[in-house]
Amino acid sequence: MSDNLELNPRALAARLSGKHLIDGQLVGSLSGRTFDVINPATREVIAQSPYGEAADVSSAVESAAAAQKSWAKVKARERGRLISECGRRLMEHVEELGRLVALETGKALRTESRVEASVLADAFTFYGGLGSEIKGETIPFDTNMLTMTVPQPIGVVGAIIPWNVPMLLMALKIAPALVAGNSVVVKSAEEAPLAVLRVAEIMNQVLPPGVFNIISGFGPECGAPLVVHPKVAKISFTGSVETGKLVAKAAAEKIVPVTLELGGKSPMIIFADADLDRVVNGAISGMRFTRQGQSCTAASRMFVHEDIHDAFVERLIARVNALKMGDPLDEATDIGTIISKGQYETVKRYVELGKNTPGAVANVCNKLPDDPRLADGLFLQPVIFTNMTNDMTLCQEEIFGPVTCVIKWSDYETMLSEANGTDFGLAATVWTNDLKLAMDAIHRLEAGFVQVNQNLVVQAALPYGGVKKSGLGKEASLEAMIEHFTKKKTIIINMT
Ligand code: ADP
Repeated sequence: MSDNLELNPRALAARLSGKHLIDGQLVGSLSGRTFDVINPATREVIAQSPYGEAADVSSAVESAAAAQKSWAKVKARERGRLISECGRRLMEHVEELGRLVALETGKALRTESRVEASVLADAFTFYGGLGSEIKGETIPFDTNMLTMTVPQPIGVVGAIIPWNVPMLLMALKIAPALVAGNSVVVKSAEEAPLAVLRVAEIMNQVLPPGVFNIISGFGPECGAPLVVHPKVAKISFTGSVETGKLVAKAAAEKIVPVTLELGGKSPMIIFADADLDRVVNGAISGMRFTRQGQSCTAASRMFVHEDIHDAFVERLIARVNALKMGDPLDEATDIGTIISKGQYETVKRYVELGKNTPGAVANVCNKLPDDPRLADGLFLQPVIFTNMTNDMTLCQEEIFGPVTCVIKWSDYETMLSEANGTDFGLAATVWTNDLKLAMDAIHRLEAGFVQVNQNLVVQAALPYGGVKKSGLGKEASLEAMIEHFTKKKTIIINMT
């Protein structure tokens, strides 16, 4: 296959059409059924994806279970070396993967999709270096006994992933799982099955067959059988709270460990002394406006001190208005589309609800693209709601779209209790130059990931995960690999 062809995302989508990747081979669904993969910018059908069901799941899990036995015997450092090699090859395919994920998700290539592809490659490089860091402990329990713990692979890991950052969120599951000696079966998100399949294809040029399998299909027909499969020994799930509960219940029936990365309603807390330009930049990146707000860490509640509230709102609206909405594959585009018609309708319902909420002010930003080829595309204008109070539905429920709520505050204690006043606890940011103020907020915020004066996305080296209904367990980091992708065996050798 020529490089040129692979840089054409439509041709690549057509080549990958209708395939799972099981046991090192691109294969169709056992039933022969497929479903449409749609480009949300034009609504054209770009490929088919196999309609995976229990039989496809079994085939992938059996392959993974067989491969895992020999994979676990490969020295950890060598497994790491192979994962690093995957990272190196994926880096060579950044452009191709970026274009493919832009085509299927509608995320703009320059601001989002290409960035995801390069961070993806970096996550493999990071984990590839950690093979030799999988270590246990020795415990001075009794001088006549040698007592230690050994981290061992768990077995077959089932990974269920979402559509918003499909390649990166998959990498944060499978890179540590594989380095730790597990094999994996990934169930891709039905809205975005292609780029992750291409990642799997590239990685399967390096890994033994069966170590990394990927199947596509819908949640109840394909995700649920993966969770309940008796040979799946660990589930790692990223998605909605409601599905997360189902996954956790099914894992509890089998008594297998589960990691859940769920939703968020992350507060961005802005003090009166904050540097306004920096804060506005942080609000643009934090709310992921260039990703149409489709992020679980989106800064969807902005608590702004009354002294700088008006100036902040004015600048934020001006900045969002300056972003260009258009064809995701166009280099000039900042903002692409919403992922699917269903999600588009959901977000629109929230916008309508907001407009009908007494007191709320809807600042509708930006312009829809005027290109007639994009007339059916799922483009949605960002809305910055002001004059909001934390008890309003828009401030309590995860919208997963380009809708943020600005809440003016004056009393610190009231604001902080409101910032903590949702079911979620994924991320939070604090904006001030006063370290004492920042430290107090850092310690009291109910969130798994707190940043001051910046709004970075998840980093491979740092533990990431929420509290409250935002999830269970951490992803990313060495610690999360050992804690969530190995099982600890305690060994006592009596030396007498
Ligand atoms: P979203 O609404 O963002 O799509 P979901 O939680 O529905 O979030 O989907 C996240 C992932 O979970 C997707 O891959 C989806 O197919 C999968 N999924 C949905 N329902 C189930 C289920 N009952 N069991 C297992 N996986 C599921």
